[in-house]
Amino acid sequence: MKTVTTTLPVLESLDVDQLETGEHKFEFAVATNALGQRQHLPVRVFKGDKPGKKVVITAGVHGDEQSGIVAALKLANELVDKAICGCVTIVPAVNPTGILRHSRDFYPADPDTSPSNMNRYFPGNPEGNEVQRFIASLWSNLLRPSADIAIDLHTQTSGTTYPLYVFADYRVDAAKQMALQLNPDVILDDPGEKGILETAWNESGVPCITIEVGAGRYIDSPMVERTIEGMLDILKMHGVVQGDAQPIQSCIEGKNITSIKAKQGGFVECHVSLMQEVEQGELLATQMDSFGDVIEKYHAPSKGTVLSHCVEALRAPGSLVVRLIS
Ligand SMILES: [Zn+2]
Repeated sequence: MKTVTTTLPVLESLDVDQLETGEHKFEFAVATNALGQRQHLPVRVFKGDKPGKKVVITAGVHGDEQSGIVAALKLANELVDKAICGCVTIVPAVNPTGILRHSRDFYPADPDTSPSNMNRYFPGNPEGNEVQRFIASLWSNLLRPSADIAIDLHTQTSGTTYPLYVFADYRVDAAKQMALQLNPDVILDDPGEKGILETAWNESGVPCITIEVGAGRYIDSPMVERTIEGMLDILKMHGVVQGDAQPIQSCIEGKNITSIKAKQGGFVECHVSLMQEVEQGELLATQMDSFGDVIEKYHAPSKGTVLSHCVEALRAPGSLVVRLIS
C-alpha cells in the first residue's frame, strides 16, 4: 500500500496576527468542488518579528496570465530570510480551474452557470453561485483579514501584450504612490469597475494596485524581474522590507484609453510596437481574409501611445487590435 502524506497545514481561515514569526506555507481550503473534495490554494506567509504593515499579493485571478503568477512565486523566494516588519501574504494561484485550462475564466461545475471572469465578482456572495461563493470564502477567510495594502498581479489577455502597466485609482493616494514606486512604463489613473479585486480592496479601505506584467500566457522574464524589483521597492517604501527604494522615474500617466477593435474576422498584422507614439491617422495594422486579400486597414483615431497590440494574428470580430493611451 502506498499513501501520500502532506506536511502542510490545511486552513479554512487565516488570521496572520495569530501566526508565529517566520515563514509559513499553507494549503487554504477555499471551497469544495462538485465531488465534495476541498480545493486548495497555495499560500505563503512571511511574518515579521517587528510590527508593520500587512501586505497581500495575489496572482492568477485570470488563469492565462502566467507572468503574474511567476512574479508572485519569485517574489516569495526573494523574501526568504529577509527581515520583515509586519507581514506579507502571497496567494499566487487564485483561480485553479482557469489556470489548469490556460484560460482567463473561472470554470464552474454547476451546469446552470457559465464560465466567467471571476474578476467581476469580488468580494463575492456567500449565498450566490459557485464562483461568488468561492470568492466570498477567499475574501472573508483569507484575503481581507490579512491586508493593510494589496497588490493584484495580472498580464494582458492571451493573444495580446502590454508593457509594465499599472491600474491605480489616483483618488487613493497610497495606491498612487505604490503605482509610481513600481517604476512601470505606464499608469492608468482609473477608478476601477465594480467587482474587480482592486476595486473591492480600495472600497474596503485597503489601498491596492493592479499590475499588468506584459503579454498573456507566455513568460516574459525581463518584465517579471522588473515587477519583482518594483514590488520590493513598494515593500521598502512601506518599511516592510529594509533598505531604500529606487528613485521614482517618470512614466506615462494617462487617464484615457482608446481600443481599436477588429471590424471583422481575419488575420491582423500590427505595424506598431509597445510604447510607440503615433499621430492621428497613422497606419496601425492591416488585416487579410483567408484568401490573403487585404480587407481592412486600421488607423489611429487620435494621437497617443501604443499601450497594447495583438500578438496573435487571428482576430475575431470585436477583438483587440491596438490600444492607445493618452
Ligand atoms: Zn488579468
